[in-house]
Amino acid sequence: MSAWEKNVRVVDPYVPGEQPSFPDMIKLNTNENPYPPAPGVAKMLKEIDADSFRRYPKTDAKELVEALAADLGVDFDNIFVGVGSDDVLGTAFLTFFKGSLPVLFPDVTYSFYPVWAELYGIPYETPALGEDFRIRKEDYYRPNGGIVIANPNAPTTIAEPVSFIEDILKHNSDSVVIVDEAYVDFGGETSLKLIDKYENLLVVRTFSKSRSMAGMRIGFAVGSKKLISYMMAVRNSYNSYTMTTASILCGAESVKDREYFEKTVKRVIETRKRAVVEFEKLGFTALESSANFLFVTHKTVPAKEIFQKLRERHIFVRYFAKPRIDNYLRVTIGTDEDMDALFKALGEIL
Ligand code: PMP
Repeated sequence: MSAWEKNVRVVDPYVPGEQPSFPDMIKLNTNENPYPPAPGVAKMLKEIDADSFRRYPKTDAKELVEALAADLGVDFDNIFVGVGSDDVLGTAFLTFFKGSLPVLFPDVTYSFYPVWAELYGIPYETPALGEDFRIRKEDYYRPNGGIVIANPNAPTTIAEPVSFIEDILKHNSDSVVIVDEAYVDFGGETSLKLIDKYENLLVVRTFSKSRSMAGMRIGFAVGSKKLISYMMAVRNSYNSYTMTTASILCGAESVKDREYFEKTVKRVIETRKRAVVEFEKLGFTALESSANFLFVTHKTVPAKEIFQKLRERHIFVRYFAKPRIDNYLRVTIGTDEDMDALFKALGEIL
């Protein structure tokens, strides 16, 4: 090892789903939306004058935050925006978790949480989900350095009601509770209504799923003005210009078109309902999903084998070689045609 390497921060990074690019592929592995963003986004992209890129973007992401504030019925200062919700969550970990008590999140949840904890040297513990893959709220009724709950949880797809989150908040006035609502628009219940009551609650959302804008990288958090100002100070201590001019303007256009948003989400939910029936016909069971994906297991054929066989046919789903979930597949809801092709292939494979 070279001398300089002793000073390297060696990390074990998060591994995102693969991004293959075969012309004939069916990509159901990273929970992207199969439909385009709101038409106003394409229109805005055409209107943006490249000359405006000479200037730095607005540090407060004005148009985007104003649109979100109006849509959600909160104040401008209740919102923090970032480069996808990964950026927002990473900033929240760095801002709020620096105590000696462990931060708590479930053993089966978004696999980026332990990566940020390791990166920032935050102690953490991972209470096990129940046998039914549900979060046991009582596990969070003990001293801790913070709590992170994905609701709906990923990859399990299961959502808990807002009363469940409030019970956790009632037992935890001494630490920040982050609720990651990446998938909430597909059938979950948001905890946004609790932000006035609990100043230690941070709700995190993304444009990558229900708004079809994963490639634009926009995420945001909503919380008390105090929480948001702490996050802004941390962000401004490493990069004041996280949002590009294009993402600010295009993101705002997406938010303004509520009708398109609702229509797209409804289509995904309808395809999901149909997909559950098709999976069951083929001998799979799916956990009850409130997300834009399903978490399925087959009664006889190992998930890994199905994953590989689908892959050979350029149908990509997600497989996690991890304890407890290594016999499950996470399948993003695509268009009806995508799903038909998937079920045809599964029929042949099985
Ligand atoms: N939270 C959860 C639970 C997710 O599954 C994802 C998607 N990988 C994210 C956050 C991050 O999404 P993005 O950075 O695209 O907003």
